[in-house]
Amino acid sequence: MPEGDVVWRTARRLHAALAGRELTGCDLRWPSLATADLSGRRVLEVASAGKHLLARLAAHDGEPPLTLHSHLRMEGSWYVERTGSDGRGRRSASGVRAVLTTGAWTAVGHKLGMLDLVPTSAEADLVGHLGPDLLGPGWDADEALRRLLAQPRRHLGEALLDQRVLAGVGTFYMAEACFLAGVSPWTAVGELPAPARFVALVHRLLDANKDRTGQVTTGDLRRGRENFVHARSGLPCLRCGTTVRVAPVGAPPQERTAFYCPRCQPGPAPTDDGRPQAPLGSARRRPARASAAPPGSRVRR
Ligand SMILES: [Zn+2]
Repeated sequence: MPEGDVVWRTARRLHAALAGRELTGCDLRWPSLATADLSGRRVLEVASAGKHLLARLAAHDGEPPLTLHSHLRMEGSWYVERTGSDGRGRRSASGVRAVLTTGAWTAVGHKLGMLDLVPTSAEADLVGHLGPDLLGPGWDADEALRRLLAQPRRHLGEALLDQRVLAGVGTFYMAEACFLAGVSPWTAVGELPAPARFVALVHRLLDANKDRTGQVTTGDLRRGRENFVHARSGLPCLRCGTTVRVAPVGAPPQERTAFYCPRCQPGPAPTDDGRPQAPLGSARRRPARASAAPPGSRVRR
């Protein structure tokens, strides 16, 4: 799932291709927007806010400035191609949800999880709930810390994934930050030893990855060694050799997967039946019951 750094790079790429240019074509394949036509509007900028993308369009024909808002959710992407090229073989045509055409470049939104069109003055209705944006120009570490500590009994992993606390963290950075801090994702936020340092760590991880393709938290770019625990269930911890495990964090039905090393990350941990776990993604090659997250796992204190 794309996290803040991927969305930040997507915004930068779209901005470079579209900003300052007039849309000569627009095709929004989204039920509520099927009749919307943005042709003739000039793109002012494309920005990210946490995991949200905001394409801001100038006023046109007496109509106010508009913002085309999108979210990549699980598998969405935006790609840019030269206008007139057919993008052959890049993505399935049935997955296309938005096409924004300019004289030089065309941006194609593929398998987007959300698409909205609102007056720019109403953007806050869509993103006003977000906590401080880890990669935003106005990153506010103090406010992030305040929001993180606001519910001291909440599990750290769950709080980190709440976009109202910190905008931009997904399961990858949640798991890696907890590993690097040496705490389990089920640690109560109020028991985090050095919360301000932890917030700074999360910020540093995303910031360090925003300019490169791929996410690296180990400093080691070799394949399979880029990160410590995320998606590595069943494999030995790169630091201590203990088998990395995975269990749900957060309350159903919104629980997410948290990967952790039981030895490097002492503290509250989920009980599970101890059965072998496979790395994330390997379940696709196995029977369905080999799913990474053990059902029925409970948290022990
Ligand atoms: Zn370990």
